[in-house]
Amino acid sequence: MPLYENQELKIYNSLSGEKEVFKPLTDGYVGMYVCGPTVYSNVHLGNCRTFISFDLVFRYLKHLGYKVRYVRNITDAGHLENDAETGEDRIAKKARIEEIEPMEVVQKYTVDFHTILQKFNNLPPSIEPTATGHIVEQIEIIKEIIDQGFGYEANGSVYFDVMKYNKTNHYGILSGRKLEDMIANTRELTAQSDKKNPQDFALWKKAEPQHIMRWPSPWSDGFPGWHLECTVMSSKYLGKEFDIHGGGMDLKFPHHECEIAQGQAANGKNPVNYWMHANMLTLNGKKMAKSTGNNILPSDLFSGNNDVLSKSYSPSIARFFMLQANYRSILDFSDEALTAAEKGFQKLMDAVALIPKLETSANSSINISEWKQKCYDAMNDDFNSPVLIANLFDAVKIINAVEAKKTNITPEDLTELENSLHAFIFDVLGLEAVSALENNQDSERLANVVELLIQLRAKARANRDFATGDKIRDGLAANGIQLKDGKEGTSFSL
Ligand SMILES: [Zn+2]
Repeated sequence: MPLYENQELKIYNSLSGEKEVFKPLTDGYVGMYVCGPTVYSNVHLGNCRTFISFDLVFRYLKHLGYKVRYVRNITDAGHLENDAETGEDRIAKKARIEEIEPMEVVQKYTVDFHTILQKFNNLPPSIEPTATGHIVEQIEIIKEIIDQGFGYEANGSVYFDVMKYNKTNHYGILSGRKLEDMIANTRELTAQSDKKNPQDFALWKKAEPQHIMRWPSPWSDGFPGWHLECTVMSSKYLGKEFDIHGGGMDLKFPHHECEIAQGQAANGKNPVNYWMHANMLTLNGKKMAKSTGNNILPSDLFSGNNDVLSKSYSPSIARFFMLQANYRSILDFSDEALTAAEKGFQKLMDAVALIPKLETSANSSINISEWKQKCYDAMNDDFNSPVLIANLFDAVKIINAVEAKKTNITPEDLTELENSLHAFIFDVLGLEAVSALENNQDSERLANVVELLIQLRAKARANRDFATGDKIRDGLAANGIQLKDGKEGTSFSL
């Protein structure tokens, strides 16, 4: 029997503003769509948090025994500079600045995106479609929206008629807005605009002569509106109605609102049952922004090469840090918070490594099944990873108490504890048991440098230069590297 039959998962649905019992459209199967990146620059840490949050969702659904089809798109055309109807295509602009082909920009940053997410141990989605690979389908759905009376052509562009849609539907249902308020708060249309109303959004844009990313269509040589690709790719791979749609909080309006309107207009169906939104990451209490320098790239984190960091951190530590907060809360990123997470992570890993060495007894003085269900209860409560992690630290206490012979545990209970810990830590949370000195070139280089310093220290001590010897030892200790002198020579640990 699959686990989901015994566990009642609740998901906070942005559409209702409530935690709802999760019931997929088809028993045992889940369709999930998450808005992917616009590949015109290196993925930033805030985006990584969003994708790690949905990786947690994906992993837990799979752990519960669901067969999950996870679709996450790559936006490689149509996303204009200011998210709205004007400005240059983000990818085309980057191509112009770097004097390369737009598809070179796409290739470069898609590779970067995949490499970084892999370092964070995110599972790849089941399908990763691109906007440029679905131009034909986008043109077809525009025709459908026009046929249904919700789209109109003007000077080679096609717009979604929000005013007309709102007569029979609620435009603003997801973000809790009213069209009347939106109208009251918007400026008049400029003379050159082709739109009937400022709220209308582009389904197809006629390309200016200098616009390089263009495709033929019945209306003009042009390109699709940004919101359209997600409607097309989600319905193509998951159906006109599907279970979960996720994305960053900043996409709720207008992007996701427009997706609902497009799906409803084209197919006459509300496309998504559960809308999930992941919150943002701040840095030292402030919004991350490249322009203010209050920004950090994942690669900075792994190398330690950024003024806000005192050292490098492994991707697993950063992932652990992020999962210590609920995906719906704002999380503040700082060097101190990461250092604290690193200590916690190590404590957890040390406890897991201790399990095979523990002695068992004929009786247990602890209830492992009860502890295990608490872990599930945490995850069933809208993927509440911080509460799960708190429960994992309760297990650390149990393990340490057994080691100190203050608690008894039977072999069966110990096996259950070990299996559950492995499942939650490695499968569900997606953490990896890497020490900072494993598996990467930087770490290998660091180990070589430490070895060199150990040799210099030995030489200094042999020359009775204890001041230099102590300086090396203390300097390493200040960087978290402990030297240990033994019969076989000096060893070190992090
Ligand atoms: Zn999207």
